[in-house]
Amino acid sequence: MEPVYNFGAGPAKIPESVLKRAQVELLNYGNTGMSVMELSHRSKTFGEILARTKSNLRNLLDIPDNYEILFMQGGATTQFSAIFYNLVAAKQAAIGEDKDIAVDYFVTGSWSNKACQEAERLSQDMPHVRVNRVADAKKLTGKYGQVPAQDTWQLSDPEQTAYVYYCDNETVHGVEFANVPEVDPRVPLVADMSSNFLSRPVDVKKFGVIYGGAQKNLGPAGVTLVIVRKDLVVDLKKGPLRPLMLDYQTMLDNDSMYNTPPTFAIYMVGLTLEWLLEHGGLTGIQVVNARKSGKLYDAIDRLSLFKSPVQPDSRSKMNVVFNLTTPELEKEFLKGGEERNMVQLKGHRSVGGVRASIYNAMPEEHIDKLIEYMEEFQNQHAA
Ligand code: PLP
Repeated sequence: MEPVYNFGAGPAKIPESVLKRAQVELLNYGNTGMSVMELSHRSKTFGEILARTKSNLRNLLDIPDNYEILFMQGGATTQFSAIFYNLVAAKQAAIGEDKDIAVDYFVTGSWSNKACQEAERLSQDMPHVRVNRVADAKKLTGKYGQVPAQDTWQLSDPEQTAYVYYCDNETVHGVEFANVPEVDPRVPLVADMSSNFLSRPVDVKKFGVIYGGAQKNLGPAGVTLVIVRKDLVVDLKKGPLRPLMLDYQTMLDNDSMYNTPPTFAIYMVGLTLEWLLEHGGLTGIQVVNARKSGKLYDAIDRLSLFKSPVQPDSRSKMNVVFNLTTPELEKEFLKGGEERNMVQLKGHRSVGGVRASIYNAMPEEHIDKLIEYMEEFQNQHAA
């Protein structure tokens, strides 16, 4: 079969060697005579998979002991609500339920906008909670295409702030924070890393919560990883009634197995973590990702028919979005891509254009092929 160059933004991009290993183990995992899918989540064998996955994640990200790792369900979208409930409750536990509380959101693309909208919705019947947009790129510049400059940020009073939220990599708009935003160290920083999880080293100590859907960089859809500082985990069962499945304390007390966990997805994440460890860990993958995205942006900037809508210092290393000079050329470019087996290059339906998602598992040669095609297209169509 001809190689397929899959530039899709998701659900998942999984290293070929990981898929092959899963294939070998599919029918008979570790001589159990059963598939991982068929193992009891309470069995010793699955317990070992879970423990190994956690410890590999801890090693890769150098996660300190005062942080817990939770495997949750409902995708990253469910965390939009869970973050709000858990961290507002933690702040209320610290300062009292009748005190004013702010939750701060950087809005740099459609995912952080959705997270912020959910907080706005959930806070409607909580008169003491105010949702603050620290900086909304679209309001400031008319579009999502950059991380707003620090002098535009309007952070709330740290004493009152339950958390500051941002999306480290906006998958749809191709906007990534080059650095962790500097906020008052007293305020827990929350990051949605769904689409750049484990693409580079991260200093976990700077965060209250890091979370992300595993799909894209870590495994199939179905499991969401949450890394949470222990002091932020409070018992939601004791406060106003909130959904139990969103309660970090319940997840923690039950080792992420309050209900049936997505066992196969967790197993696949485990295999991907082993692949990362074998490939130089996060510093190793960071170098590769910088090289892969660097050469693609270089081609976009060099070739006159291609344009990046994202400010250079905010360009994503995972989701490279670009346009051609006319909609007709864009259509023709995408069609030619399909003919060359370059699939899922079309930009998100809300923004159009072209998007090359080049997650950890994307071989560098596939990006070289895309650049070759861009150069060929330029030679054929430029005046
Ligand atoms: N956050 C980001 C950055 C995403 O890219 C996505 C999905 O693509 C989500 C959140 C929502 O994730 P889910 O579909 O797992 O709810």
